[in-house]
Amino acid sequence: MFMAELIKKFAELLKTGYICDWCIGRNIGNLLSGFTNKERGRLIRYQLAFISDSGEKLDVDLSNFHGINFRDSKIKPQTPEKCKICKNFFDEKLGELGEGVVKKIGDIEFDTFVVGTIPSDEILNAEEKMQETMGIEFSEPIKSEINREMGKIIEKLTGKHFDLKSPDVTILVDLKTNSIKIQVKSLFIYGRYQKLVRGIPQTKWICKECNGKGCTYCKGEGKLYKTSIQEIIESPILKDAQSKKSAFHGAGREDIDARNLGWRPFVIEIVKPVRRKINLKELEKKINKSKKVHVKELKFVDKSIVRKLKSDRIDKTYFVDVEFKNKIEKKLLKKLKIIAQEPIMQKTPLRVVHRRADKMRKRYVKKFSYKIVGNKRIQFKIKAESGLYIKELISGDGGRTQPNVSELIDNKVKKMSLDVFEIHSKKI
Ligand SMILES: [Zn+2]
Ligand SMILES: [Zn+2]
Repeated sequence: MFMAELIKKFAELLKTGYICDWCIGRNIGNLLSGFTNKERGRLIRYQLAFISDSGEKLDVDLSNFHGINFRDSKIKPQTPEKCKICKNFFDEKLGELGEGVVKKIGDIEFDTFVVGTIPSDEILNAEEKMQETMGIEFSEPIKSEINREMGKIIEKLTGKHFDLKSPDVTILVDLKTNSIKIQVKSLFIYGRYQKLVRGIPQTKWICKECNGKGCTYCKGEGKLYKTSIQEIIESPILKDAQSKKSAFHGAGREDIDARNLGWRPFVIEIVKPVRRKINLKELEKKINKSKKVHVKELKFVDKSIVRKLKSDRIDKTYFVDVEFKNKIEKKLLKKLKIIAQEPIMQKTPLRVVHRRADKMRKRYVKKFSYKIVGNKRIQFKIKAESGLYIKELISGDGGRTQPNVSELIDNKVKKMSLDVFEIHSKKI
């Protein structure tokens, strides 16, 4: 009988001890579809048995024929030891491990998952040795076999789906240390907010002196402001999602002392949520009980929206109420028309230059109007390109912004209050 090269190699492989169906089959895991490696291995084992029973001497360790009834030849199969390659991992350990994973996932809500495994050195070394005989031309890596088979078990136990693309949980099984780790994908919730009061920052402002532990500098609070937009929005969401932490990504931010009456897009990232199926309509209502911050259009989004939010250049309209030091000279006001005609050249404002690069920006004011509301008081409405500093456009920032309102009307600013009036963003 003619024995093909491949079968010859398998006979060689099985010469020195028992190898399980899984480990035999993995060597031809990339040949034919519609079989598990266990089935492939079994087919090879039987083929070798047929050949042996026909009288051809193969020198296969007879424990590999355990459970097979020979007729013509006088072969008497022996009881096998554990598989030389996997130590019966696939037949005996995999199921147990799958149950361990499900237990570890516990209450965490998910629809999709992916499994990643780190095999033990013992298995990897045995696998490598086997490949010296068999080559790797048709073989499947043992890691991907374990991941897939474990995935099948978890699917069976939980009814959830293996999904490589964007899994809710990532399961990491380390067979070197026998540990299971569960990573939970963050929830990303998009929305738009209004800030109705002055004096609160956009994000939680952790005290740098104590890193949030509480010290004399922050009066034991661990943070420099009592609350923030982030904290007001996250509070009911964290509770519903059973999460401890959020990250807040805004499409820009207003100054702490400015209100925002326009609706600013944001994404709040809920880290390690136990519950993913939370009711955003209800959460919106809960958040909007706040007198400081309102939100709308809450919806679940993909992580990629965060980057889009950060890179979008959005025009904004501001409302600025300015009290000047001296009486306003009305004849100078006509000079203001160049504000909307010429580019505004702006060096990084003195108030932020300690944390941002000192450079020159060129930005345009798209609409500019004003109303005199007192001897020394003017209200401005300004539509500007993204990145233009409005306070400095008014005050001049010691000449660092040109042209500027203060110089044009020859009057210094006594105080001003700023509102973001409209954020000209497209809907997501
Ligand atoms: Zn095996
Ligand atoms: Zn502190």
